[in-house]
Parts: sequence; structure tokens; C-alpha cells
Amino acid sequence: MISVAIDGPAGAGKSTVAKLAANELGFTYIDTGALYRAIGQACIDRGVDVTKPEDVLKILPGTDIRLILKDGGQRVILNGRDVSDEIRTERASMTASVVSAIPGVRSFLLDLQRSFAKSADVIMDGRDIGTVVLPDADVKIFLTASSESRAERRTRQLAAKGIEADYNEVLSDIIKRDYNDSHRDTAPLKPAEDSIIVDTTELTLKQSIKRVIDIIRDKL
Ligand code: C5P
Repeated sequence: MISVAIDGPAGAGKSTVAKLAANELGFTYIDTGALYRAIGQACIDRGVDVTKPEDVLKILPGTDIRLILKDGGQRVILNGRDVSDEIRTERASMTASVVSAIPGVRSFLLDLQRSFAKSADVIMDGRDIGTVVLPDADVKIFLTASSESRAERRTRQLAAKGIEADYNEVLSDIIKRDYNDSHRDTAPLKPAEDSIIVDTTELTLKQSIKRVIDIIRDKL
């Protein structure tokens, strides 16, 4: 099985680039952020205070998360309910960022993520795929962009989905999430030593996808 890890900060275009590259190459795309978002959503649903790790850990045994691969995309099923759309709100994003810093949450999701890579050729996107989840991935890419351009893209993406969002709020959330994601003790966001860094600030979506596909083809 071939595995490609695409890591990077929020809003760098990882999911769009990874999904389209996977379609082009005939790989399965796995969005691991959705798993952390699903746990965040489970906490929101059950009124759990996510600043109390012990309370978050208590609900994990009763939390069933499945990914259904459909039409080149992925649906997220939390305890039998499709939560794919509601996990995309800003509230769900921040909650995911907080719960993802809890080591017990990360270990809960580790085997699940590795099992995907055992059963198919995958492009997996996240924060720690190349460093922790799949340290032996065949290709490791770290996709990044300036925080301003990431906030602009995120605001546009949300608007396209009919979710109204203020650019300055999105920017401040991105900066906060970057800080949380790169300063946590367990599996912080950082490029793997053997990763190729792709900065998409000055690239169009088409150029970013081409760059990523070229890197993957070159390495395989
Ligand atoms: O990628 P996405 O923005 O959907 O991820 C939501 C949150 O989940 C991130 O802010 C990050 O805190 C967390 N995450 C993580 N490790 C991953 C994927 C996501 O910690 N592999």
C-alpha cells in the first residue's frame, strides 16, 4: 500500500488539494481533522466542558466514529448520525482544536487512522500524519500559506456554504488554532524532517494541486 501524508496548518488548502490529488491518482482521501471535529461535536452534543480533559476522556468509550467514503469524498458518522456538515462551523473548529491537545484523544484516534492506510492507497491530511500517524509514509508534504491568505480562503469557503463569517474573526481563530496546534505537548504541528514544504500563498488552487501531484509522482 502507498501512503501520502499531507500536513499543515488550518486553511492552507490541504483538504481541497489532497482530495483532488487523490481523485487524480486513484488514491483514497482521508481527512483526519474530521475525526477530531467529530469528538469535539460529541462534546458539544453532550454538554461536556472541553477544558476538562477528564470529562472529555469519559465520553470516548461511548463515541463511535465512522468515515464513509463516497463519491471521492468522505462522510463522518458520529454514533450513527451524519455530522459532516455541522462539524465545519467555527465553534466546532475551535472545539476540535482544544480536544486534539488531549493525549488520550490522540491515542484513541491513532489506530483508526492507521487502519485506513493498511487497507488502501491513501492520501491522508492532518497535522501529525508524517510525524506520528504514518512516520513511514512514502511521500510527506507540508502544505502551508500565510495566515492572512488562509483566513481569506476560509471566509470564502464558509460563504460558499452559506455560512456567514467575519474575516477578522476567522483570522483570529486561525492564529489561535495555529498556536494551539503547534504548542501542544503531544504531536504538535510541525513539518516532518523528511517532508517537502509547499507554500501556497502565491499559488492558485490549480497550481497547488499540480505541485502536489508532481511531487507525489516524482517520489513514487
Ligand atoms: O484539519 P482540520 O482543520 O479540519 O482539523 C481540525 C482540528 O483538528 C485542527 O485544528 C487540529 O487541532 C486537529 N487535528 C489534529 N491532528 C490531525 C488533524 C486535525 O490535531 N491529524
